[in-house]
Amino acid sequence: MQTVKPVRGTRDLIGGEMRPHRAVIGRARDIAARFGCAEWATPIFEDTAVFARSLGETSDVVMKEMYSFPDRGGESLTLRPENTAGICRALISNGLTQTLPQKVFYAGPMFRYERPQKGRYRQFHQIGIEILGAPEPLADAEAIACGWDILASLGVGGAVTLELNTLGDGPSRAAYRAALVEYFTAHEARLSPDSRARLARNPLRILDSKDEADRALVAAAPLIEGFLTAGAAGFFAQVQADLTRFGVPFTVNPRIVRGLDYYSHTAFEFVTTTLGAQGTVMAGGRYDGLVAELGGPAVPGVGWAAGVERLALMIADPPAGPAPVAVVPVAAEAEGAALGLLAELRRAGIGAEIAYRGNLRRRMERANRIQARAAVLLGADEIARGVVQLKDLASGEQREVARADLPAALA
Ligand code: ATP
Ligand code: MG
Repeated sequence: MQTVKPVRGTRDLIGGEMRPHRAVIGRARDIAARFGCAEWATPIFEDTAVFARSLGETSDVVMKEMYSFPDRGGESLTLRPENTAGICRALISNGLTQTLPQKVFYAGPMFRYERPQKGRYRQFHQIGIEILGAPEPLADAEAIACGWDILASLGVGGAVTLELNTLGDGPSRAAYRAALVEYFTAHEARLSPDSRARLARNPLRILDSKDEADRALVAAAPLIEGFLTAGAAGFFAQVQADLTRFGVPFTVNPRIVRGLDYYSHTAFEFVTTTLGAQGTVMAGGRYDGLVAELGGPAVPGVGWAAGVERLALMIADPPAGPAPVAVVPVAAEAEGAALGLLAELRRAGIGAEIAYRGNLRRRMERANRIQARAAVLLGADEIARGVVQLKDLASGEQREVARADLPAALA
């Protein structure tokens, strides 16, 4: 029979590989809580419409990357490619659009049909926050500051830069869009086929293209700053001022546009040069139209998502937990009492193991192999006297300890 294989672009996280993964999520969760974010978990699959409507029918994600399938009832479902749409759907479904603002943290797997490479998978994980119901630029600055604090706390603050841009408000975008259409139409023959399609549907997307020829054209394209209304320029200036007050360093990069349709005003990315081609670790912005797009009231939003795998590659290996102790019965008649002691230690919060079989020598060998910090030896004499022999496996030093004092001696 043919051996089963993992699906291309998926990976197993085994033992020690799970440590950096958990460290990223745990640290992010703690810091998001300091910013007042409550954790939400939405389903891993949604009606396809949730993503098709929110991400825009023409986005790369919707056109090329979604895992969509009909379920047995014939509904079209999609494995979530990102979580912002799901959080906004949940805000509406749970009647929370009247209790705003809502600050949300999430962590979990996402699915995109992409070409797998280092830092790019078909099942990957994201952490993210969303601040819903706050139109103020302070919300943008707070969301970004939360992201920055998480990166700094993970020890990667020195390896990332925050690139910030504005996409303006509706009128700014309309004017900018017209200028881009004019510019790219004049150079249409040199655009990639993908970008030629974008020209008709969403010309801003061309700025996000990874195609070499497109990038050369993009370098000379008009910049948004020339098209901002006074309101949009003031909003962007306030975000920058608040970021400075929060002590978050940034550079303005007018080429940052997000790949998704629903952004307005602030767009940003935290990028690094340490991960090769997959340099964006955290990205987000303001999406004031999204909740309404999903059929809810006009609720503004701002947030970001970060790739857990990319961050896990960047952080120092977190320390493993404390080594266990090995409980070792010195003879067969101590086996039963050893199990009682094992249970007692575990309930006292101490990691403890026992070999399933073997004589004293074998069990001591195994204690060394699992790198136990100590062996707790007990035989008939120890049982009778209510003591154990506690042997430090690093120094070899052995001493007698009253059984009642053992948890304290090992704490
Ligand atoms: P990229 O330009 O790298 O494709 P994106 O714009 O599609 O990124 P977002 O949708 O903004 O990415 O997702 C936010 C973050 O999630 C990214 O910055 C990245 O760290 C991570 N991410 C996105 N897609 C993947 C993937 N396929 N595998 C691993 N991490 C990913
Ligand atoms: Mg992508």
